[in-house]
Amino acid sequence: MSTTNMKIMLDKQRQFFASGSTLPIKFRIEQLNKLKILLQQHESEITEALKKDLNKIEMEAVVTEIIFVAKEIEFIIKNLPKWAKPTKVSSPFPLCWPGRSAIHYEPYGSVLIIGPWNYPFMLVMSPLVGAICAGNCAVVKPSEIASYTQDVLTKLINNYFSPEYIVAIKGGHQEVSQLLKEKFDYIFYTGGTQVGKIIMQAAAEQLTPVTLELGGKSPCIVDETIDFSFAARRIMWAKLLNAGQTCLAPDYILVHQTCKAALIKELKVAATLFYSDDPANHASYGRIINKKHFERIIKLMQKGNILLGGKANETDLYISPTLIDGVDWSDSIMQEEIFGPILPILTYENMDEVIQTINTHPKPLSLYLFTKNKNTEHSILNRVTFGGGCINDCLLHIVNYHLPFGGVGASGIGAYHGKYSFETFSHRKSIYKKRFLLDFSIQYPPYTETKLTWFKRLMSLSLRL
Ligand code: NAD
Repeated sequence: MSTTNMKIMLDKQRQFFASGSTLPIKFRIEQLNKLKILLQQHESEITEALKKDLNKIEMEAVVTEIIFVAKEIEFIIKNLPKWAKPTKVSSPFPLCWPGRSAIHYEPYGSVLIIGPWNYPFMLVMSPLVGAICAGNCAVVKPSEIASYTQDVLTKLINNYFSPEYIVAIKGGHQEVSQLLKEKFDYIFYTGGTQVGKIIMQAAAEQLTPVTLELGGKSPCIVDETIDFSFAARRIMWAKLLNAGQTCLAPDYILVHQTCKAALIKELKVAATLFYSDDPANHASYGRIINKKHFERIIKLMQKGNILLGGKANETDLYISPTLIDGVDWSDSIMQEEIFGPILPILTYENMDEVIQTINTHPKPLSLYLFTKNKNTEHSILNRVTFGGGCINDCLLHIVNYHLPFGGVGASGIGAYHGKYSFETFSHRKSIYKKRFLLDFSIQYPPYTETKLTWFKRLMSLSLRL
């Protein structure tokens, strides 16, 4: 899209937003229902595109990219009328008395949603649900790297919605750079940290608020108190889903040194149970998105001992489920997010060491802890900062739309899902409404000692009320 066309399109969105058409809850619910119909009627088209982009088998595509968006839409439709009502809060004595205070939720205007390629459908649709439910207009830019999904997404969005309300644009970083020169009212970005910085810099120029959903190295801690076969299945499922290209996948394992061997044995069993001895020919196993990422992941395997897998086929963009040990934090595999099916295994002697190790690195998007020890759980939850996570499981905190999903520090800014999506895409407007019953003269000049004494007395009373 040319710069002129982009400007025209955004002007139309601004006019449409200013008309107030997106404000009624009825309108928002109608649009959410439209999105739900889109998901129902085009499921096979969407799953076929995901198969071409990432070799996602139908079940994985439906479960990870479609079903939870549909469920979230239902949940939001049910609760939106309640959430959108002003929230009443108390009005402190004496200055705000007698009167009423409330938080009013209003949409920002035109929001820009920029998506990544790893869950290319869901990570555009889920923020879009948030933008719609809060009453915004939206410009959607899916990832160009998952090109088949980009085609389907843009076609469907542009068929189902009018461009002055929601429009999807194809393209890569040049199109994003062009879009970022325009004034949006909110930017919601999902992707890598480096590009996240570019987005935030551009947003700062216009003082546009942002949500950044980024990545990072998510640790998985395993202590000696648990059942290793359960833990191994849960870890390997999470790691190998989408061939390891999941932002919140366990990036590496920190296992107590006394049970490393037992865990590795079960991790191997789990990998074979899921994808057989020949994952390359297993229908459920995914592929790396492109040659660039394939080569990047292969380089990460150059150091360490391969305990399982380590096989690859460039023509097919296949990398086998791989376990590695003998690496440390100076190796490149421990210095960047792996984003592939390679799982390094490091050991620890005590929890203090684990906490110190994680805390000396950028704050992770997720953390997974396998333990039955309540003290260990307490220490990790209270002494380590991370976006979110699970105790004795992996990934599943993301599917619970009662929980906010997002990172902290280097793994992101802001959160969404369910009610948190509504809040993310809404400005909270604070309103205090006073009656004409009384006027405290002490608030007005001229200011005197007596007024100050009385004011202090009233304030101390207000604290006790
Ligand atoms: P990316 O940063 O390469 O691209 C994301 C989006 O930014 C794309 O739409 C792309 O067109 C655009 N873009 C790329 N380069 C740009 C530039 N120079 N200027 C402006 N825009 C640009 O991210 P990716 O490789 O698609 O995604 C992988 C990363 O995203 C991983 O780090 C992963 O952890 C993270 N991620 C995070 C979440 C989350 O929810 N926190 C979800 C998925 C992926």
